[in-house]
Amino acid sequence: MYTDTHVHTVFSSDSSTIVNRQIDKAILLGMKRLYITDHQDFDFPEEKYGLAFTFDTSSYFEKLTELKEFYKGKIELLIGVELGLMPHLAGKLKTYLASYPFDYVIGSTHLIRKIDPYYPEFYEGRSEKEAYLEYFETILENIHTFNEFDSLGHLDYVVRYGPNQNKNYSYLEYRDIIDEILKAIIDKNLALEINTAGIKYGLGHAHPHSDIIKRYLELGGEMITLGSDAHKPEHLGYAFLDIKDLLESLNIRYLTNFVKRKPEFIKI
Ligand SMILES: [Zn+2]
Ligand SMILES: [Zn+2]
Repeated sequence: MYTDTHVHTVFSSDSSTIVNRQIDKAILLGMKRLYITDHQDFDFPEEKYGLAFTFDTSSYFEKLTELKEFYKGKIELLIGVELGLMPHLAGKLKTYLASYPFDYVIGSTHLIRKIDPYYPEFYEGRSEKEAYLEYFETILENIHTFNEFDSLGHLDYVVRYGPNQNKNYSYLEYRDIIDEILKAIIDKNLALEINTAGIKYGLGHAHPHSDIIKRYLELGGEMITLGSDAHKPEHLGYAFLDIKDLLESLNIRYLTNFVKRKPEFIKI
């Protein structure tokens, strides 16, 4: 089974899964490696949404280092983080990453003007297309202000939550802005994440849509990471078998794992 590089535990405000349960599930699925990548969303509007989305990084390293030892010989545990990107956070994120020895950093856009696209507020008073465009424009702005992460998380995540989800959504409809995002990550040497939560949300495709992954390869992109975004053990490695077919159809021969922030290419 492919390594799952995007996994949440109780260190994330929206998960109550203790770390051991995710590791045990990964062993059961036959993974040789597992990444824990909890949410670190600085300046998340806690007062508005009732969740903080940050964790104490010293406790995180303490716990995960202890588990890394405990599971030695059974599975290799790697310490990652999913950083919530916002243009004004660039300096803070830089300092943060310089302070801790993460193996792997996912850069994700969860907020647009401090609004979570999960809530209808984000779509009010405008078309769905305008809202999606703003999400993509924010990703691009985030990459331009801060690009010291390793892989761009769930590129078209916003389509999970739009009024019509992905019914009217296609790569071609957003080609210009998506191409700019893909060119920016290739230029900055960042990987593109395939996030299978899109399938879990009933979209019929992972994030991003396969047409976007295809375009990334056409433009010369070579680093693909794979993650389920599981918040519960039953979602760990979610739909990875479907992904096997997708990878084959796109002629992708390697997945990328980051160890101590350096890419390793894993033949599939
Ligand atoms: Zn995310
Ligand atoms: Zn996540």
